[in-house]
Amino acid sequence: MTAIPDFPVGTNTTISGLGSSFVDELSGLSVPWQGAEAPEPELLALNEELAVSLGLDVPALRSADGVAVLAGSAVPVGAKPVAMAYAGHQFGGYSPLLGDGRALLLGELVDRDGRRADLHLKGSGPTPFSRGGDGFAVVGPMLREYLVSEAMHALGIPTTRSLSVVATGRPVYREGVEPGAVLARVASSHLRVGTFEFAARRGEIVRSLADHAIARHYPHLLDQPETGENNRYLGFFTAVLEAQAALVARWMLVGFVHGVMNTDNTTISGETIDYGPCAFVDAFDPGAVFSSIDHGGRYAFGNQPAVLKWNLARFAETLLTLVDSTPDAAITAVTEVLDGFDSRYEHHYRGGLAAKLGLSEDSLDQALADDLLTLLEEHGADWTAAFRALADELRGNPARLDGLLPPDRSASWLERWHAAGKNDGRAAGERADAMDRVNPLYIPRNHRVDAALKAATGGDLAPFAMLLEVVTHPFEERAEWTEYASPAPHSFAESFRTFCGT
Ligand code: AMP
Ligand code: MG
Repeated sequence: MTAIPDFPVGTNTTISGLGSSFVDELSGLSVPWQGAEAPEPELLALNEELAVSLGLDVPALRSADGVAVLAGSAVPVGAKPVAMAYAGHQFGGYSPLLGDGRALLLGELVDRDGRRADLHLKGSGPTPFSRGGDGFAVVGPMLREYLVSEAMHALGIPTTRSLSVVATGRPVYREGVEPGAVLARVASSHLRVGTFEFAARRGEIVRSLADHAIARHYPHLLDQPETGENNRYLGFFTAVLEAQAALVARWMLVGFVHGVMNTDNTTISGETIDYGPCAFVDAFDPGAVFSSIDHGGRYAFGNQPAVLKWNLARFAETLLTLVDSTPDAAITAVTEVLDGFDSRYEHHYRGGLAAKLGLSEDSLDQALADDLLTLLEEHGADWTAAFRALADELRGNPARLDGLLPPDRSASWLERWHAAGKNDGRAAGERADAMDRVNPLYIPRNHRVDAALKAATGGDLAPFAMLLEVVTHPFEERAEWTEYASPAPHSFAESFRTFCGT
């Protein structure tokens, strides 16, 4: 392990100036640790725009020292890398100790806007939390996380971001031998429901953890008292519920299936985390499951809001002693907040769906929304394409929509939609343009992602770079990108599966 002094000097921060508030403020929730050697590191992807926004120096990151830091095989002087401890409910069963089994929190940076961000490495080698795993990650899945997280960011959906992927030159054994890789991930924090589940069984540390999380993500709550009716911990639970309800509504509106919504993958910040087995639906299908291990469909597309509510109940349990010293009173208080979940989720989903349809929230009645979903589902219409086609229809060009839904079946719904739009006040063209600003043309289609990752694993990064360019400009129609807007061929969709922990 090399220690690199003064590396790399950025405009408003240096990596040698990495912060460590999590480690300094919270003892017992992490273990100091360092990454494995990378035999032959090679930078495969670097997010220059993100690096600059974090005040990092791009040429320095591209240098041999920089790549060594991004690979986890060198630490900047003064950094205190740790593996974070957490617990979690996985597929409903409780695991008291998970933790970063193949990841490290390198430290914290402050971005251009003064926001604190974690710099985290995934695939950096075994840690005390590795259990049976090897601690490594491979090129395909790390580029997958890079691509999909950056696509989500471009769609305006809160997410962890990807700074880089470095191929390590280490052979990693999966089904066959795969090239090893490390992803550098940036997140507003890596605090999860699972962090609280771990801390809640260890006494007073859960209070310090909650105060740390509040200061970091919901600082306005620091003004609220520690105890009593309007206490900050109940406010904290409410704020996380709100952020997560808004997040999962956004997933549902773009057809995103997370695939492994265990409580250790539910963040306190409200950012999407962990892109292992995720996928996007082509046709609207509440039962869609892609993960090879999700046999019961627990994390099916349409189950995501219900699973989130379940995860939030697990979160609430960790806060009970802080919310009220009388257990019954604490349970009553958090249950009341949790009971509000359905209407908070519905508010975000309905508001988002109304925007997708060029309507105000008031003019989208429940039946109009439900009937559209039924229509799309019945005809296996492509979810993403349908909303752009509806905007075209509104401009007087129904050709694209007619290709998705038989006109005789869509006619009566369209009539009701047009009638609802009449109350809107905006001209049809204006509404259509507003729809195009919220309805993406290009999402990371499963077959495209698959093909790009296969090529990259074989050494050809061109399809990955091209797809990244397209999905990070999701609303910008370009003639040469037409093929990226199409759903997967049937033959691909039939057998497509995703995998965890690869
Ligand atoms: P995930 O499904 O990625 O959320 O991971 C769940 C847990 O498994 C976390 O504690 C990970 O650190 C751990 N894990 C996943 N893959 C590996 C691996 N290859 N080696 C060690 N731990 C792993
Ligand atoms: Mg995880």
